[in-house]
Amino acid sequence: MNTSALSKYAGPAPITRRLFLANAALAAFGLPLYAQVKAAKPTHSCIVVGAGFAGLAAAYRLTAAGWNVTVLEARNRTGGRAWSYRFPQAPELVCEMGGEWIGKDHPRILALAEELNVPLEPHAYRVWLLQHEELHAPGSWNFSAESQAAWKRFMDKYKSSTEQERRRLDDYDWWTWLGKIGITDGDRRIREIMDSTDYGESIRQVSAYVAADEYVDTDYINPNSTDEMDFHVRGGNSVLIDAIAARLAPGALHLNSPVKSITERAGRVTVATANERFTSDSCIFTAPASVLNSIQFDPPLSSAKALAADELEYGRIIKSQMLFDRRFWPAEDFSLMSDETSQQYFHSTQGQPGPRGILCSYAIGDKADVLSSQSKPDRQAQLMRDLKAVCPDAAAALIDTFDQPWQYDPLAHGAYAIYRPGQWFRIRPLLEQPHGKVLFAGEHLGEWQGFMEGAVSTGEIAAQHLLR
Ligand SMILES: Cc1cc2nc3c(=O)[nH]c(=O)nc-3n(C[C@H](O)[C@H](O)[C@H](O)COP(=O)(O)OP(=O)(O)OC[C@H]3O[C@@H](n4cnc5c(N)ncnc54)[C@H](O)[C@@H]3O)c2cc1C
Repeated sequence: MNTSALSKYAGPAPITRRLFLANAALAAFGLPLYAQVKAAKPTHSCIVVGAGFAGLAAAYRLTAAGWNVTVLEARNRTGGRAWSYRFPQAPELVCEMGGEWIGKDHPRILALAEELNVPLEPHAYRVWLLQHEELHAPGSWNFSAESQAAWKRFMDKYKSSTEQERRRLDDYDWWTWLGKIGITDGDRRIREIMDSTDYGESIRQVSAYVAADEYVDTDYINPNSTDEMDFHVRGGNSVLIDAIAARLAPGALHLNSPVKSITERAGRVTVATANERFTSDSCIFTAPASVLNSIQFDPPLSSAKALAADELEYGRIIKSQMLFDRRFWPAEDFSLMSDETSQQYFHSTQGQPGPRGILCSYAIGDKADVLSSQSKPDRQAQLMRDLKAVCPDAAAALIDTFDQPWQYDPLAHGAYAIYRPGQWFRIRPLLEQPHGKVLFAGEHLGEWQGFMEGAVSTGEIAAQHLLR
């Protein structure tokens, strides 16, 4: 990333609680941060399962330290749940089918982009609200003074809460908790729309601790808060993925290589795909927890870990990218929260050359299932009906759509992990526990869970652990 470009938009990044935690986690291994790591151990080897952000970050750090690294990826592409897409009819435009925004408080992915000279660009939005069939422009709607005061009271208390109090919070769902602390019913319904896009399910199913901890350093009860939706990689997030993959040793990356089994004998780990076997000193497993139990482990995983993997759900999200012949929406930084079919619509191609443009429809939970089960023409008609509030003849400007329903993806079974009430403190520790010489990383284990930052930081922490 171009640091001067970033500071121009964001100002110097403050030391946040999460940044403190991320650095503390690295320091816990008794090691300096990566910039200072030099110790090469050329005789050491590692097999990394998965070539998403977590796997590639881990593989890059180990390769840089002189390790012999093999990356096994089931898909025919790198990036996993980060995947940039260009319509054949408009190759000048790029949009994201998975991970979208990089937040100004996401230290490890920002550092990685900077280190690899991958430029970022601003990608924040102002929020229009479509509720009860009425469109409200930014500045014309706000949360009530009552809710703002209630939020401030809660945050003041939360910041000094004890671990016991946080564990108690984890037993609640976020919807119930917002009501309990005094957010008004009307504001709670708007937050339900907005927050559900962060989790991929209704906030009635999300741990209140997980939500409070995500929003603690944000301007939550302000419609203009960017909420960690600050930057994009210029040219698409896959540019950063490609830049990391380019740093691996030639031949290290094996695509179309779904791992079937992981066996440990006499301190060596053998990882088998349908056609090949690879043996090394260690393994970092970065595939989502939703596929963990499809891998045969020998010795087997503990029943507690296997159960934890089954329990952790992944959010249902369908992203539909809609290519239009003109940008009829009211602003380049247009984003719409809606109580219609999709919870959110936003301009995917902000700052990219016109006149054509792409709007993204982002539907979650039951709504994602409804849209996903429709035929493409029916889904298009449904989305165009919703967009009538923004432009009565949006349908006439539509060129094509491209959809990715993540809940149908066989290698993720959803968009990102959702920790339901009572799960964060109970099942996350089980999922992150090493299994012999197999370490675990991935978005679902990160302090910034659900983000590319969570993937990068856990991949780096796993690599750091091996470099001890
Ligand atoms: C719709 C959507 C929107 C998002 N929005 C944002 C956002 O705005 N900002 C943000 O920061 N993050 C966002 N995210 C989350 C972000 O994309 C993920 O947190 C991150 O990409 C996950 O990286 P990972 O490496 O942990 O997992 P993955 O990317 O899933 O990587 C794991 C890899 O393992 C592979 N794999 C699975 N099984 C096997 C097997 N048996 N053998 C070999 N390989 C296997 C998979 O194919 C995959 O490539 C979004 C995600 C989605 C889906």
